[in-house]
Amino acid sequence: MPDTPPPISQILEQRSGQALSLNDRYLNRQLGRIVRTLGFDRDWRHGEGAHLIDATGERYLDLLSGYGMFAVGRSHPTVVEALRETLDAQTASLPQLGVTLLPGVLAEQLVARSPARIAAMVTANSGTESVEAAIKLARATTGRPRILYAEHAFHGLTLGSLSLNGNAEFRDGFGPLLDDCVAVPFGDVQALRRELDRGDVAAFVVEPIQGKGVNLPPPGYLEGAQAACRATGTLFVCDEVQTGIGRTGRFFALEHWGLDPDMICVAKALSGGFVPIGGLLVSSHVRDRVFDGMERGVRHGSTFGGNDLAAAAALATLRVIDEEGLIERAERLGGLLLELTRPLVERYEIVCDVRGMGLMWAIELSAPGVGRNRAVWNTVERRQPGLAAQLITVPLFKRHHIFSQVAGHGLNVVKALPALVVEEQEIHRFAEALDDVLSRAERLPRAMAGLMWDLARGGMRARVR
Ligand code: PMP
Repeated sequence: MPDTPPPISQILEQRSGQALSLNDRYLNRQLGRIVRTLGFDRDWRHGEGAHLIDATGERYLDLLSGYGMFAVGRSHPTVVEALRETLDAQTASLPQLGVTLLPGVLAEQLVARSPARIAAMVTANSGTESVEAAIKLARATTGRPRILYAEHAFHGLTLGSLSLNGNAEFRDGFGPLLDDCVAVPFGDVQALRRELDRGDVAAFVVEPIQGKGVNLPPPGYLEGAQAACRATGTLFVCDEVQTGIGRTGRFFALEHWGLDPDMICVAKALSGGFVPIGGLLVSSHVRDRVFDGMERGVRHGSTFGGNDLAAAAALATLRVIDEEGLIERAERLGGLLLELTRPLVERYEIVCDVRGMGLMWAIELSAPGVGRNRAVWNTVERRQPGLAAQLITVPLFKRHHIFSQVAGHGLNVVKALPALVVEEQEIHRFAEALDDVLSRAERLPRAMAGLMWDLARGGMRARVR
């Protein structure tokens, strides 16, 4: 029999410093290896605003934001207070055969912030669950089998959403996936139309800006895709799990193109990062086709969906976004970040692109043109595609205490999703730090040797050979 767990305050005090060893023993050893190899193995103790704080009190600018969910910043007091208030009120959360107030108010808020077609919300607990709901509801609404998705898409890792995942490294080994899910190239309306013209497509599911690689849609693409879907009776679904809730300088990224989808997937930042949450916003047509009678009233759902704590956290998050003007802030600071970092394309041979929208930003590296540098680059890339991008992330972390990530397997794209509350001065600091690490990275043989040394010291020499 294990010991009875003591109160949380005691666990935090008595077992501090054991997070990685417990992870290695009971959770995900390979994640532990990755973290150590990259030298990211800090003993994280606190989160505050746009920062993570380790056991020594050192602050790190967190450009991952928990994969985008801490948009209002970590430990936001307004959200903390809302959660406390809800617990103190001992609300009657989840009567199941009954309803409570807070999820209804949240749905009212989200519908009011959505384009005209959206009329209701189907509750969920994560991004992938909202995508699963979209697949099911699209099939039930249209009676058609096929679902289209874009190459390089990421919609989650459960079996349905994985069937819409455009990245082999996630799919491989988990098949057979769902039948009738077909990839089309992102940005190509003609290719989409060819599939739609068969008349058997229930839905086209697309991220307005792709999270893996931070791929922006070419002009006219999303509008054309929506029109083509409408013309063929296919539902147009925007996955705003990453781009939504202010990230791109609009409440939903789809507003940049004036889209009016049939369904919108939301999750991540909606609950301020505190409580798992998800939701599928749907048109009245979808709602009424799927839930078309009392006997079908609960044909889709989830036990925890629409719980009071998630709804309270989400309502508080929306309040913070409004009161602190975080959407405008994302647009302004995102503009500043692009302005400060776009010149890097001219300044450094290995930088081929800097792109973004609001506070969803990426820098892409490519092989230098000629000579020894190119040879070193190619050798490394042959061994491990995407490793060159770690020339940026590892020294950003080590030298500048800035926590960033490579935007997808095998890509030489480094991505930043700072909290929308990030200070302007931190944006300047990030741009200067990038300049510093790029100037070192361009001396490629030396930089690469340094990276290899760092990685080897991290304990995973075998992986990078
Ligand atoms: N859709 C998109 C666009 C995402 O970025 C993600 C998560 N990265 C998901 C769906 C899946 O969300 P979750 O991890 O909450 O299941």
